[in-house]
Amino acid sequence: MRIGILSDIHSNLEALEAVDEALSSASVDTIYFAGDVVGYGPDPNPCTQWVRDRAEIAVAGNHDFAAIGMMDPETFNSNAREAIIWNSERLEDWAGDYLKELPMVVTRDEVTIVHASPRAPELWEYIFTLWDAEVNFSHFLTEFCFVGHSHQPVMVGMDPEGVVTVIPGESLKAEEGHRYLINVGSVGQPRDGNPDACCGILDTSTFEFTLVRIPYDVRKTQRKMVKEGLPLALVDRLSEGR
Ligand code: ZN
Repeated sequence: MRIGILSDIHSNLEALEAVDEALSSASVDTIYFAGDVVGYGPDPNPCTQWVRDRAEIAVAGNHDFAAIGMMDPETFNSNAREAIIWNSERLEDWAGDYLKELPMVVTRDEVTIVHASPRAPELWEYIFTLWDAEVNFSHFLTEFCFVGHSHQPVMVGMDPEGVVTVIPGESLKAEEGHRYLINVGSVGQPRDGNPDACCGILDTSTFEFTLVRIPYDVRKTQRKMVKEGLPLALVDRLSEGR
């Protein structure tokens, strides 16, 4: 089975449509989603609808909970807060109901999915350093744990002796006795200097995982954001991938 693993769509429909097309071309069988459907961008309802209709597994992100009043928007910086309130005001009832029911963590076969960290999902903490990653390996039992939240793709492996290393490149082949903590990057607001949408594909028959980059019409999303009066800093960062 080939699983498309996505995170942090952030109401960016153009990025999501490009990813959808790429995953279809790659013959992906199912979708797992690691949270943050809404926030930042201009299309909260169609993005929520896509996740609701297409994702076999979906978990909550901090922006999702903030948009439906399950988290205080004051904990976000001013631009993020403004966009969350904008998203929240336009979210249709069915979409809010869907987001409200999202779980924090899901485990299926050899995969754990959580937005921020398996150690304490409700704290929305970031996994930035190798030490952060190492601590988190003892908080999931599966071979793979997929996260989002930082919008920066990275693959970290732990060998049978417990040694943790960053795996270079865009793909890995899982080794016997090794475990992997992987950030699949962001569909709708990448922050690793590459503006292309990012996601991952896990092939459970070959145990191969690949990070995929997909160009999309960034300017179209930016034009919508300007038209809707969303913060310009959020518009600009899309073309910079920051
Ligand atoms: Zn996010």
